[in-house]
Amino acid sequence: MMPWRFALKQYIVHPERTPASQLIYYNDKVSIINDGFPKSICHLLVMPRDSNLTKKHPTVSLTEDIKAELWPYVEMAQNHIFETFTNEYELVEPIPNCFETIEDFRDKETFINNFIQVGVHSVPSMGNLHIHVITKDFHSDNLKRKNHYISFTTTFFKKWEELPLSEIPDRDYMINEVIKHHDLICSYCGKNFFNKFAKLKSHLDDEFTLHFKKKIE
Ligand SMILES: [Zn+2]
Ligand SMILES: [Zn+2]
Repeated sequence: MMPWRFALKQYIVHPERTPASQLIYYNDKVSIINDGFPKSICHLLVMPRDSNLTKKHPTVSLTEDIKAELWPYVEMAQNHIFETFTNEYELVEPIPNCFETIEDFRDKETFINNFIQVGVHSVPSMGNLHIHVITKDFHSDNLKRKNHYISFTTTFFKKWEELPLSEIPDRDYMINEVIKHHDLICSYCGKNFFNKFAKLKSHLDDEFTLHFKKKIE
């Protein structure tokens, strides 16, 4: 059995074996897949297939040149997410600083800029380099622990625009300070839940149902 840490390797070695429901796209350069444990409604991974790059730390190895090469695939993931989310859901209540109007929600550029985040984790749990492209709803049954939320909503998450960093973030600091002690802040309204994850979780579900409604087929 492959160790858990390398569970993503199959997607770059044999993308063609990926179940159709999980595979978004692949070519000789990248694989784009649905994260097996999505932390939001839409959560994609863009994975370069290069056998050297895949082993490197994502915070320092995504140089400007590599980013330029990968950018079309990040855009492809963003477009896919925009289509998927807006096909499935309607906005029923504005979200401050995100979707002030229905038109904002339906506008691809606004949707991508305000509601999708792209980046990598400071301390990735998976050994193969992958870029997260994820909506900011955090409405998912897989969001089970404080660290899941913190890893996307604090400096633990290094945004595409910040990359590459000049050095790999300090692992102990990231895990023992940021993950353990950072407050839980609602991504919709900014309310602080301190370390009360269960409260945040039920609040996030309330926020989601307040703002979005599933379209009727
Ligand atoms: Zn990750
Ligand atoms: Zn809130």
